[in-house]
Amino acid sequence: MRKVNLQRIRKSDSYTTGEIAEMCGVTTGTVLRWIKIGLQRIDDSFPFQVYGEDLFSFLNKEQKSRKRPCTPNEFYCCKCRVPQRPAGQIVTIAKVNAHMATLRAHCEVCTAQTYKFVASRNLGFFLNLFKPETTSQQDLPQSSVPVVNTHSRVGGNHE
Ligand SMILES: [Zn+2]
Repeated sequence: MRKVNLQRIRKSDSYTTGEIAEMCGVTTGTVLRWIKIGLQRIDDSFPFQVYGEDLFSFLNKEQKSRKRPCTPNEFYCCKCRVPQRPAGQIVTIAKVNAHMATLRAHCEVCTAQTYKFVASRNLGFFLNLFKPETTSQQDLPQSSVPVVNTHSRVGGNHE
């Protein structure tokens, strides 16, 4: 998807999926997927239509989340749709093989489970940024995950 000039969207107009696709340089299939994941369509419209206002806020949110890639000590949260820090800095190694490691954590803001994929050779670097958790606690229900709130700081990680 190319960057859309949001100023071009007339908020008081409505757009068909074809018009949106053309404007954003995507297929209508992609636009339908956007509708599935949260782009508000006009009730009972067929073919689907979208208010400019809703299109604007959807794309604005998308572009903002794209603009800010995760820093090493952040996980991308699918629920918040932005990079977030792991709750209590606690991270679990969910999976590791010769090439890739999967780190799992809970979003500091919404507590949703988040994942991060890192190259195995960099695993040590990432574990140093966080508090690696042993796998024995990984199956605790979310509500009982302890909120660790010590003030230990990773060196060189000042805000
Ligand atoms: Zn979140």
